[in-house]
Amino acid sequence: MPEAAARTVSRPRGASAPGDAMIELMRELYPLCRSLTGNGVRETLRIVDSVLPLEITEVESGTPIFDWVVPKEWNISGAWIADAAGERIVDFADTNLHVVGYSTPVRGRIRGAELLERLHTHPERPDWIPARTAYWAETWGFCMTEAQHARIRPEDEYDVCIDSTLEDGHLTYAEAVIPGRTDEEILLSTYICHPSLCNDNLSGIAVLAYAGSALAARDDLRYTYRLLFSPGTVGPLTWLARNRERLDRVAHGIVVACAGDRGHVTYKRSRRGDAEVDRAVAHVLRHSRPDAVVEDFVPWGGDERQFCSPGFDLPVGALTRSAHGMFPEYHSSADDFDVVTAESLADSLDVLLDTLGVLERNAVYSSTSPYGEPQLGRRGLYGQISSGVPREGEGFHRAVLWVLNLADSDHSLLDVAERAGLPFATVAAAADALVEADLLEEVAR
Ligand code: ZN
Repeated sequence: MPEAAARTVSRPRGASAPGDAMIELMRELYPLCRSLTGNGVRETLRIVDSVLPLEITEVESGTPIFDWVVPKEWNISGAWIADAAGERIVDFADTNLHVVGYSTPVRGRIRGAELLERLHTHPERPDWIPARTAYWAETWGFCMTEAQHARIRPEDEYDVCIDSTLEDGHLTYAEAVIPGRTDEEILLSTYICHPSLCNDNLSGIAVLAYAGSALAARDDLRYTYRLLFSPGTVGPLTWLARNRERLDRVAHGIVVACAGDRGHVTYKRSRRGDAEVDRAVAHVLRHSRPDAVVEDFVPWGGDERQFCSPGFDLPVGALTRSAHGMFPEYHSSADDFDVVTAESLADSLDVLLDTLGVLERNAVYSSTSPYGEPQLGRRGLYGQISSGVPREGEGFHRAVLWVLNLADSDHSLLDVAERAGLPFATVAAAADALVEADLLEEVAR
């Protein structure tokens, strides 16, 4: 039997391996200036739509969202700082990280002393450009290397331009809905608001897009899948506000982020701590990736915070490799294509699809022959010559006995796998064989 957990969700098919295809998608998305709102977000979703068809929702600025409000829309077409000779010291055309996200428009000549107060560097790594935002304060600023910063002298004057708009407009988010046999939903979510940053943003978009593409190729899904691509924090909140009446359909959820670096897989449990999704991910990781880490919920990190706020308390965990803020290149120009690998992206996609495979297949059964053990030998389910005790390595035989013993209309296959210490795939294969032999019936849940 395969030792890996159930892999019942198929891989996306294409000329290149999934990891390479995800890198390709990220390269296309990398130059775009994403933010909480604006055309960079729309263009990002247009490109993702080529992998996974999306439904776009636009919500007007000023719309109240719980304790928040949908912000003004921000767009930018260029920005620079030039010295007295007209030489550009920084230029948005080189990297969109040069401008503090949501900077208000600026045009004019400014004294160096005043300009210096609006500049940000990465003092520990002088060659890196930090990524900064000012979503909720109307201000402006530039980010740069220490060498660029050293060219700004307090006594000199500089021409400064930020060609941006910050006006009433819309917040944009997108969903892909992949229907299954039931209305029960699995919610997969990632954020789309970071500019040119690879691991902390583009990796999550790529993994979710390719997970959706794999799911969409299936015609035997039990759950309906809802994949949400929205700007961080305010995006999930906007979605939650607009879907408040139907949240009871969310059976399981996973936020995917920071999924492409070389670190081990990290799973952060939902606020509930023992949700089925928490147990499914932990099971997959235990049997396939000994170096993976499963952590308890904490109320900081990514968008799982919103889904797991006390008013919702949805069963939503977070799948990352290195968590937010836990890799040195985080929120800097160094979070580029040197940080992410095709192998790590593919591995994160595998963990996600393997987990969904467990959730899809996690049925509850009742035995049709619960009074004593049924005679397995005459049904071809046990060796004709037996020592009486399944030997080490005879996982399938053990799984058959465990599934039969726990086929009490109460325990799920994941319960069986955990109690037996066997991979889910082995237990699921045993259940299939027992159903085939008319010894099990699936119980409706
Ligand atoms: Zn971030």
